[in-house]
Amino acid sequence: AETALIRSEKLALVGRLAASISHEINNPLEAVTNLLYLIENNTKDATARNFSRTAQDELARVSHIVTHTLRFNRQTVALGEQKMSGLLESSVAIYEGRLKNSGVSLDRDYADTSRVFCSGSEIRQVFANVVGNSFDATKTGGRLVLRTRDQRHWRTGQPGVRVTIADTGHGMPEEVRRRLFEPFFTTKGDNGTGLGLWVSREIIAKHHSRMRVKSRQGDRSGTVFSIWFPLNAVAQRTPEIIEPHTHAVVH
Ligand code: ADP
Repeated sequence: AETALIRSEKLALVGRLAASISHEINNPLEAVTNLLYLIENNTKDATARNFSRTAQDELARVSHIVTHTLRFNRQTVALGEQKMSGLLESSVAIYEGRLKNSGVSLDRDYADTSRVFCSGSEIRQVFANVVGNSFDATKTGGRLVLRTRDQRHWRTGQPGVRVTIADTGHGMPEEVRRRLFEPFFTTKGDNGTGLGLWVSREIIAKHHSRMRVKSRQGDRSGTVFSIWFPLNAVAQRTPEIIEPHTHAVVH
């Protein structure tokens, strides 16, 4: 088994790598955005101005996604009481454009009332990664469901909040389900980094929370990610919940 030390070394390494990747992507993005801005302001053609404006907005979205999925090695992380449905909403917001054009419907079923003491930016990043994967897996006509509930830990009775992100996408074969939390494991070729779920697992473990995955292929295919947060996700140690695994549990 991987030791905590090896894991933290890997985290540091991948953190540096991710930071430099996001830097490499953001620089040319910024250059193109500036050029589009110049085009917009050097033409009187209303259509060209309009197209240029839209292109700049789309690039801003790319930049936002790059920054949010890859920048996870910041030193200071602001902690606070967060409503999980609020964090979910703000992570879905970055996919708004994609959602409109995708033909995928998004259902919200929010019923959480409790707040979770956590790093809002990190948890938002987890949600953005998981929701992004669901979009990637789901074709036109498919459906995503976001659900939040106040829920006690099934064994200890500790109060918490459960967040479920379900899709009717292509699902995963056993081989993928076994490996999806490994760094650099991706089935998306050049379009994937294989870092999203690996980073998410680290963040979830750090918050003493649990992440489960159910997935099936075939007729009624689809994937369900379910994350349970204790209300004091970072403030308080909850030994019976985090031990013996510090990893999130995968089913
Ligand atoms: P990436 O998205 O860059 O590939 P991730 O670590 O986020 O990296 O995901 C790893 C792999 O897990 C994906 O390439 C995909 O094969 C699989 N996966 C994750 N979420 C889903 C999902 N909702 N449906 C189907 N496959 C998924």
